[in-house]
Amino acid sequence: MDRENSSTNNNSRIRELISRLDTEHRLSLSEYEEVLKNRTEEDEKFAQELAVKWRKKIYGNGVYTRGLIEFTNYCKNNCHYCGIQSSNHEVERYRLTKEDILSCCEEGYRLGFRTFVLQGGEDPYFTDERMVDIIKSIRKNYPDCAITISIGERTKESYKAFFDAGADRYLLRHETADREHYNILHPKELSFDKRRECLGYLKEIGYQVGCGFMVGSPGQTYHTLAEDLYFIQEFQPEMCGIGPFIPQHSTIFADKKQGELSETLFLLSLLRLIKPNLLIPSTTALGTIHPRGREMGIDAGANVVMPNLSPVSVRKKYALYDNKICTGDESAQCRSCLNQRMSSIGYELVTNRGDIKK
Ligand code: SAH
Repeated sequence: MDRENSSTNNNSRIRELISRLDTEHRLSLSEYEEVLKNRTEEDEKFAQELAVKWRKKIYGNGVYTRGLIEFTNYCKNNCHYCGIQSSNHEVERYRLTKEDILSCCEEGYRLGFRTFVLQGGEDPYFTDERMVDIIKSIRKNYPDCAITISIGERTKESYKAFFDAGADRYLLRHETADREHYNILHPKELSFDKRRECLGYLKEIGYQVGCGFMVGSPGQTYHTLAEDLYFIQEFQPEMCGIGPFIPQHSTIFADKKQGELSETLFLLSLLRLIKPNLLIPSTTALGTIHPRGREMGIDAGANVVMPNLSPVSVRKKYALYDNKICTGDESAQCRSCLNQRMSSIGYELVTNRGDIKK
């Protein structure tokens, strides 16, 4: 068989698998691996068109927005990839007060945000009691808004207490669905099983749950990525956040390569085919590796953006990775910049809670 023939055959096989994903929304682990390994640029384009078709069918040309409040960069953990890990002494640490957080919400509400995402490192200062108090205040002041929490691993009781206080959604990226790969990315105190257990608790309690992973993190292979896709297919989260891994200069991964744009975009399209109504953000990390990364993410099938609502004075300090964008802009600038970006590609930001469409 000459080379041209073999590539044509390959191509039709991958197209067949992508078409099957489009209609049945599932593949086997080895089929995912095959798709990732053998896809051509044309296959990527094919997946993209099918993904956009689903996205338009379910969410039209609306883009959901969430106001992200990065309220603490203190963290007790040492995830090897993350710039705010506790052993990084170059970081200037900060915590927002409850009043700071509420004024971010006030500004956000005025700008049209109806979901607030409280994200932070695993900061022991924010006990259950303090979190519950903050969540209750936001719930009371903004009954028409969704509250999303993203503060890592806690006990089932803590998750339940936040939920009872009024939190609706929880973001906890699974980071990688491959146990060995998990151990490359994390120190031995952190466990793959614990992370999975937490995701199970969140679902059981009744949260809308978000998982996710980085693309191109050190040690990642097509096999580990296939495991990620297979995990998402089985777990059926409401949300899934993915973005390229970007090295941070003071971590042990400082010299590693960043994740690829085209690979991230292809994975976004596959996620849309796995679960057509999935809430998929076009992430800041994607916007960091390419000036039009977030637009490209929406064009690949994503339907959510999460601009920063944190006070400008702290934005540079929440440095998970290098060269993060939007760290000098006011919240209003972020919203209007994104508005323009989305309308430049025929989409528009919407002002509502942005719940999953069933
Ligand atoms: N402490 C919370 C929030 C973590 S920050 C938690 O444990 O869930 C949110 C996400 O940023 C992480 O889950 C991780 O996937 C991503 N992230 C961290 N460092 C990164 C890096 N160097 N490049 C790209 N993404 C990174």
